[in-house]
Amino acid sequence: MHPPPILTATAAEPKPMAKTHLGLLNDVGELSASLAGSTNIKSFLQRIVELVASHLRSDVCSIYLYSQRTERLTLRVTRGLSADAVGRVQLRLGEGLVGTALQELRPICEKCASTNPNYRFFAETDEEHFEAFLAVPISRGSDRIGVLVVQRPEENAFTETDIMALKATASQLAGAIENARILISMHQEESEPAAEDLEEPAIKMVRGEVASDGYAHGPAIVLNRRLSSQLLNETVLTEQYTEEDFDRAIHETERQLENLQRDLAHKLPEMAALIFSAHVLMLKDDEFTGKMRQRIRGGTHPAGAILGVAREYIDLFSANANAFVREKAQDVEDLSRRLIGNLQQSLAEPGSQCSQHIVIADTLFPSDVLKLASEEVAGIVLVTGGVTSHVSILARSLQIPLMIAGNRRLLDLADGTRLVLDGFAGHLHIDPDDDILKRLRHRNNAREVANHARGEMQPTTITRDGQRITLFANINLLSDLEHATKLKAEGVGLYRSEFPFLVRTDFPTEEEQYPIYRTLVEQCAGSVLTFRTLDIGGDKVMAFFDDKSQQINPNLGMRSIRFSLHHRKLFHEQLRAFLRASIEHGGRRIRLMFPMISSIDEYLEARREVEICREQLVAEGITGIPEISIGIMVEVPSLIEILDDIAPLVDFFCIGTNDFIQFLVAVDRSNEKVAPYFQPYHPSVLRSLKRIADAAARHGIQVSICGEMAHEVRYIPFLIGIGIRTLSVDPRYLPTIQKQLQQIDTGEARQQAERILSLSRIDELRRCFEPTPSTESDSPCAADSP
Ligand code: PEP
Ligand code: MG
Repeated sequence: MHPPPILTATAAEPKPMAKTHLGLLNDVGELSASLAGSTNIKSFLQRIVELVASHLRSDVCSIYLYSQRTERLTLRVTRGLSADAVGRVQLRLGEGLVGTALQELRPICEKCASTNPNYRFFAETDEEHFEAFLAVPISRGSDRIGVLVVQRPEENAFTETDIMALKATASQLAGAIENARILISMHQEESEPAAEDLEEPAIKMVRGEVASDGYAHGPAIVLNRRLSSQLLNETVLTEQYTEEDFDRAIHETERQLENLQRDLAHKLPEMAALIFSAHVLMLKDDEFTGKMRQRIRGGTHPAGAILGVAREYIDLFSANANAFVREKAQDVEDLSRRLIGNLQQSLAEPGSQCSQHIVIADTLFPSDVLKLASEEVAGIVLVTGGVTSHVSILARSLQIPLMIAGNRRLLDLADGTRLVLDGFAGHLHIDPDDDILKRLRHRNNAREVANHARGEMQPTTITRDGQRITLFANINLLSDLEHATKLKAEGVGLYRSEFPFLVRTDFPTEEEQYPIYRTLVEQCAGSVLTFRTLDIGGDKVMAFFDDKSQQINPNLGMRSIRFSLHHRKLFHEQLRAFLRASIEHGGRRIRLMFPMISSIDEYLEARREVEICREQLVAEGITGIPEISIGIMVEVPSLIEILDDIAPLVDFFCIGTNDFIQFLVAVDRSNEKVAPYFQPYHPSVLRSLKRIADAAARHGIQVSICGEMAHEVRYIPFLIGIGIRTLSVDPRYLPTIQKQLQQIDTGEARQQAERILSLSRIDELRRCFEPTPSTESDSPCAADSP
């Protein structure tokens, strides 16, 4: 329910207007129906304000429309205020009486508006003569559309009946006005002042969710902006360059791209897959550089020729229906920046545009993150996404600090703005003053020292009461292995085989996959290696194969093991490559795992495919393939009721809490808008985890946890308490987790887990897992005091 309207004075006696108001509604109803589909927006809105003004006998009636993009209300049409003000008067949500009406979604009625401290006067409106003021928000559900305002010169002129009538009108018109707003917003860019022209309090600090921790500072660069004027550097256009300079720039650009590609191949051999191929091909494309050359010969200066052709391509790519093609616009922009940098020779080695910058973007593909890594980006801030999404997981592997901050204003920051990303606290500081900078640096240095001390690991992990816990590493890239070995991980609890697939332009063949798996297996020889088959789909989109938009609900769509079973040939290629590579392991500790198994039938079908591939290879004369344990990810809740049926058929369970929680509580793990609902402490999640652990114990099979929950310090005592003895985490978390496990007494943990499992309210459970010591004594799961 909305609060009552503000009536700052006794409203005047209702006038005998009920009949007139009824007439207003009828007229508006007709108007709305006849013009809802009309594109004659201005006259449509103008007729509405004329009509409302005449029915309410008010001198002024105006409509302000709200833009979600700019987060501002703009005066779009008026009867009674100066026409000059239309399109120019703008208010933020909560600003002035109009902005307050929309923010609080309630009518505001003022007998004498100018005396309200919240009143915002705009000289260009000529509204100083109008004291009585009534504003009613226009909304559809929680969607804010705009505000309908009437004004009269005499004070105290609006009655309760007027408020009701205007509210009814606003609600009747909401649908039609919403249509008008959509059409207007398509032309907004031309008609609205640029964001930088508006007075807007500068944002100084933005909070976000940490997806990959770390500390970074550097200038901002906003990706996916249209080829901007910033690229059109004044000096470039005024200086005279020749066709020879252009040739030299192309040559130099080619050389740099080759170097980048080579560095990437060195650092991330399995991912190198010609990540810069689009750039190189464009350079070699006659249509692209050829067109530039033609323009230069036609008299255009080289920089102008580069920009002109680049813009054409960007427009072409941006308009494409396929997301993968649209993304290429960014490659064109990147390439043209590089070409212009080399033309200018302003820098001895014009690194990539993102080198040592903090990148701000709406969304990124995994291949973008790789490219950024090879360009040595300092940090990334995304406006959308979830911390358990695969872009986040990849950033962690690449050790790039990444924060998700749902603040779209970040996309308007000027390139070059000084940023500090404190990816431990989840803070992005914008243009911090020197004092803050000093404090942040100091804090980060102290943290580094502490981390260094924590980095010491024992080869085995023993709890306070002498219980053995196994710590495995989750591996996404081969380069993670080195890190895991250094930190004495006892094996690989999860190898996510999909990452090399995500950045290719086609499916890697058996022969392409084989050397990757072989390196992996060789490096794990003698210790546990858990190889997970392709887990593609959901937020792990292979841009070349499937446009995310083509599946209405990709998380529940053709993904993971379903995908593999649906595309048998591809599944066989992966299984064959893995089986061949497994020969190099030579031990019995090699394990194969299927993701997203939802039934026994599905599991048996997948397992049969392994046997088929093994038989094929033997028939081809390949010998020495070892015995392989075969297990499943437990991450689809449909398994819970059949745990005792499936357990005897598998060699191990590995619980994927990221997906398990997503499916059990119906919360998209990569949607930051519903992040608060992603609740590992939900009683159904906790009790299900206990059921899985118990089923594994009953059947004598190993159970591990490899989702993000396994590295969260606050959940570890509970996981140990329900009987989990194997955790698999990103290597970077290993030292902290080992230290914590050494302090745990498994008996105490079991008792505490029992208390937790008896609770059923989210609120109580949330408090149980809150980390602050002050909550411990009154925590609902604390032991009773003696
Ligand atoms: C999980 O779902 O918890 C998991 C480990 O798998 P992924 O994050 O790769 O989906
Ligand atoms: Mg999963």
